[in-house]
Amino acid sequence: MNGIVAVVGRPNVGKSTLFNRIVGKRMSIVDDTPGVTRDRIYAKAEWLGKEFMLVDTGGIEPDSKDVILSQMRMQAQLAIDKADVIIFVTDVTSGVTANDADVAAMLQKSGKPVVLCVNKCDGIGEVPPEFYEFYNLGLGDPIAVSSVHGHGTGDLLDAVFENM
Ligand code: GDP
Ligand code: MG
Repeated sequence: MNGIVAVVGRPNVGKSTLFNRIVGKRMSIVDDTPGVTRDRIYAKAEWLGKEFMLVDTGGIEPDSKDVILSQMRMQAQLAIDKADVIIFVTDVTSGVTANDADVAAMLQKSGKPVVLCVNKCDGIGEVPPEFYEFYNLGLGDPIAVSSVHGHGTGDLLDAVFENM
């Protein structure tokens, strides 16, 4: 099986960190500056012996009139159109934002299967109370992940393959 999995979400939630963690190499630039990943970045990845193509995207700011941010949104839309499964990355430290809700609506419109990743759940064995807000996005069960530490990425990829 050679599915395409796209990593989307608003800027700075940790998409590139997650991408690098799954791919096992530092291919995508991780930076605190929102919007650093402007182009789509592809890499082959593997989970339990199954290969897939992972695509990092620059991030989606749904309502921005900024030229770069709207180009990033177009790139993300292209990645969504080509993907078999979407990993929607959110950030537990900011809770659910209006942009998260907008991206969720955009993803629901795409009709593609979506796996909801709540990133930056860095604590072991407990999730912050904000984690539960993410059920309200209507995308099914959120999965707690720490892309920096690697916790939860196995559960995330299991969910991806259930939808492939
Ligand atoms: P992107 O814009 O969505 O691609 O986000 P990046 O991967 O560039 O990460 C943005 C910032 O969040 C960087 O400072 C990362 O180190 C940080 N970050 C990413 N994942 C995690 C995580 O799981 N836990 C914590 N605490 N920080 C993270
Ligand atoms: Mg990035």
